Order: sequence, then C-alpha cells, then structure tokens
Amino acid sequence: MHDLLGGPGVPCTECQAGNMHRQYLTFFTYLDDELVTVPNFPAWVCDLCGRREYDTRALNQLVLILSPNAGKPPRRRGRAPKRILRREKLSRTGKLE
Ligand SMILES: [Zn+2]
Repeated sequence: MHDLLGGPGVPCTECQAGNMHRQYLTFFTYLDDELVTVPNFPAWVCDLCGRREYDTRALNQLVLILSPNAGKPPRRRGRAPKRILRREKLSRTGKLE
C-alpha cells in the first residue's frame, strides 16, 4: 500500500479545478499568548489556487497535545498557588537555651 504521496491528490474545495497535494508545512498557532510553531505539519495544498488545509487528523492530535486539560473542568482562581517554605528554628526538643 502506498501513501498518497505522488498520487492524483484530492479535488480542491476552493477552486474545484486544482488538486490538493500533501505537503508538510510549519503550523502556527497561539497558546495563551505564546506563539507555537509545529514544523513538518501535514497539510493539503492546492496546486492551482494555493489553498491550504491542515490535516484534520493531525490537528486533532495537536489539540490534545497542546491542551492537556482538555476534558477537565477549568479550575482557575485569581490567586496563583505560592509555595510557602517554613523554617522551624526551634530545637527538636523544644528547649530554648
Ligand atoms: Zn484550488
């Protein structure tokens, strides 16, 4: 079985005259104000009008990777948890000298 590489491609949904071929592009997305780039992301590119469609299956996987909290209820309170370090300076016997 061959992959679709070099195959006839898929009819373009935009111009319907060209064919969309599998290519690997760099995918850009924002995650909490941070730009995330994913190189070699599978996509379909029309050889006529240049329309790009990212591979939906790969997109779904990417969403799962980028959103580890997906499916969990959002638990965001205003306060960020702070780590409190407590130093006990009393001697273990409790005696003060
Ligand atoms: Zn097209």
